[in-house]
Amino acid sequence: MAKQFSLKLITFSILAFTLTSCDSNSTATTTKTASEYNNPYEAQVDSILGLMTLDEKIGQLNLPVSGDITTGQGKSSDVGKKIQKGLVGGMFNIKSVEKIRAVQKIAVEESRLKIPLLFGMDVIHGYETTFPIPLGLSATWDMELIEKTARMAATEASADGINWTFSPMVDISRDPRWGRVSEGNGEDPYLGSRIAEAMVRGYQQDDLSENNTLMACVKHFALYGASEAGRDYNTVDMSKIRMYNEYLEPYKAAIDAGVGSVMASFNEIDGVPATGNKWLLTDLLREDWGFNGFVVTDYTGIYEMMAHGVGNEEEVVAQALNAGIDMDMAGDSPVATAAFVKSLKDALNKGMVKIEDIDTAVKRMLTAKYELGLFDDPYRYLDSDRAKNEVFTDENRAFARKVGAESTVLLKNEDNLLPLKKEGTIALIGPLGNNAVNMAGTWSVATRQEKSNPFLAGLKTVVGDQAKVLYAKGSNLDYDLELEQRATMFGKSIPRDGRSDKELLDEALNIANKADVIVAAIGESAEFSGESSSRTDIGIPQVQKDLLNALLKTGKPVVLVLFTGRPLELVEEHKNVPAILNVWFPGSEAGLAISDVLFGDVNPSGKLTATFPRSVGQIPIFYNHKNTGRPLMNEEGKFEKFRSNYIDERNEPLYPFGYGLSYTTFDYSNLNLNTNTIGMDGSVEVSVEVTNSGDYDGKEVVQLYIRDVVGSVTRPLKELKGFQKVEIKKGETKTVTFNLTVEDLKFYNSDLDFVAEPGKFHVFVGTDSTTKMMAEFELTK
Ligand code: BGC
Repeated sequence: MAKQFSLKLITFSILAFTLTSCDSNSTATTTKTASEYNNPYEAQVDSILGLMTLDEKIGQLNLPVSGDITTGQGKSSDVGKKIQKGLVGGMFNIKSVEKIRAVQKIAVEESRLKIPLLFGMDVIHGYETTFPIPLGLSATWDMELIEKTARMAATEASADGINWTFSPMVDISRDPRWGRVSEGNGEDPYLGSRIAEAMVRGYQQDDLSENNTLMACVKHFALYGASEAGRDYNTVDMSKIRMYNEYLEPYKAAIDAGVGSVMASFNEIDGVPATGNKWLLTDLLREDWGFNGFVVTDYTGIYEMMAHGVGNEEEVVAQALNAGIDMDMAGDSPVATAAFVKSLKDALNKGMVKIEDIDTAVKRMLTAKYELGLFDDPYRYLDSDRAKNEVFTDENRAFARKVGAESTVLLKNEDNLLPLKKEGTIALIGPLGNNAVNMAGTWSVATRQEKSNPFLAGLKTVVGDQAKVLYAKGSNLDYDLELEQRATMFGKSIPRDGRSDKELLDEALNIANKADVIVAAIGESAEFSGESSSRTDIGIPQVQKDLLNALLKTGKPVVLVLFTGRPLELVEEHKNVPAILNVWFPGSEAGLAISDVLFGDVNPSGKLTATFPRSVGQIPIFYNHKNTGRPLMNEEGKFEKFRSNYIDERNEPLYPFGYGLSYTTFDYSNLNLNTNTIGMDGSVEVSVEVTNSGDYDGKEVVQLYIRDVVGSVTRPLKELKGFQKVEIKKGETKTVTFNLTVEDLKFYNSDLDFVAEPGKFHVFVGTDSTTKMMAEFELTK
């Protein structure tokens, strides 16, 4: 992590260093020479620590929720008074420079030690300018673009007073029932790691004290995406070898990229809640991985340890601190009866925790504040001019439009129905067709949702007067009113139409019959996915399926523009609808972004980062699975008795990992390795020729997978180890080259050693994870 050395402050702290403690529980002050300090702020931090009472120390570990934007089930009270008393370390989800300035002022002008506060927020996929949901962003496979979204989010959020974001979320998930797949980067640890690094770089840059950077927080540590049955907050249980090989890598990539903070997850690991899991938060995170930032709980995470069943108030508080938690999020809310602010003192008095460990946590919090430059100037992120000039600008919105278009994934395009021509009459039909507030998707707390560009408006702008656009809602979101209400929370409503289902449908069919082409804007609403939005049925809601079928019956060409926060089950739609464009939730400029793609101003290039199953019964389903002892023996994937398959469904998914079409076509040829044998310090250069053989210029994500044919433990059939997004003009051929090193061949063996084992490796290159284009080489001792 970037550390800014401030001579001025060091001088101050060394002079001020023989201060005596105000509290008998404080660590005794010691005198050190400058060379004994191993981080540039240690001297200042120690000197402040020496001044602190126990209450003030515990206050630094307290992160109450503001109540300004509620993201959980409780709000804190009397926060202002607590800040005055030095009992608060930071606040989160307060929006606007004015409000944050007022709160920071209390801390630095009215509290005894004048320690500035951290101001955090869930800046997940943009700030006011909102980009596609993270699952959509990951589908761009464009690391520069992703980094730039994080950079822009950091610029906007920091201009509005925020200095810490609860992002990136890097939980690998193979279960689309889990609502939070929308917030992550899909199922692959290699891709997820590259995205984690890009996001951390984008937020933090190389100097956290710059006033346009945010401290990032990688979450949810760890394994949250593997909750049983896809039910949110549910138990996680997996072998260590799976954990190390398939789930941990993206968190580690964020740590290696210098992320400043880590958020513990809600789930348990090996029977111990992550929030109180010493193996996870200390042995692995700090000792093995060398993390030296701070760890925050998730919302009321300490209190929830009681429901997990691992102790009473004092026991869970002690367990969390002893495990390595530094900051307690929302513990100071009425619902949370177990919290650092409520029980840590008692735990200390009873000898359940040591003052040294409280001090260590406090030091980490103070160090973070130094790194952010807050001790130099607590108002450094509070410049109203920046807030006016740098947030939701035309330039940022134009970028959001571009990213929105880049994230779309073309799932089907029979007879090249797409791109549409800007001519004739176009009927836009569906409950997502003319709605602003759902376009940013889930976890977009700062977005100006009512200012998002609805599909209808974007469509009209893009076609101008070249075509006539008609619109009808066609149906509600769902037949079930209660489900509809649960899926349209936080102001993201799709107002229920007073008319009957039949009246809505009749109106839609009437309009459809006047059109040359029908564009059906259907799928999930923003809050159908996200936190606490798990589903058992991952199909398009029935009322919209019925609408779609009625539209298909008109005999007119139908394009399905699919809104979704998760992989959906689309077998019927794939069979019946000629063209399907998956747009996720594209963000602030949704309507324009989608329309750019629909009419071919942008050629779609997104590729899925999570498998779309045929049936919910196939879940968990992922491309990098093992072979088993009884794989199917026929190429066509037909049922075989006593082999690993289903009697009622095929094994393969509907749309595999890495899949996505383009308006043009790409042909792969001449896969070549520069050598057939490498030693333990060698590398292989892999090259392939990719030709744009269609009628449009386009971008292709060229993907490289390996298979370690024989291992000391079983290895996946394929593992992504490289990708490049290349722009290829029509008729042009490009040679794409990858360098595979021995590092890329390594995995964790049964002793959890990270090793490359000699033997044969297959290399696959192609357009998605089903590619069969293969070459092989041997790793020798
Ligand atoms: C979520 C976190 C989020 C936090 C703060 C929790 O409910 O799990 O991802 O950062 O709330 O809003």
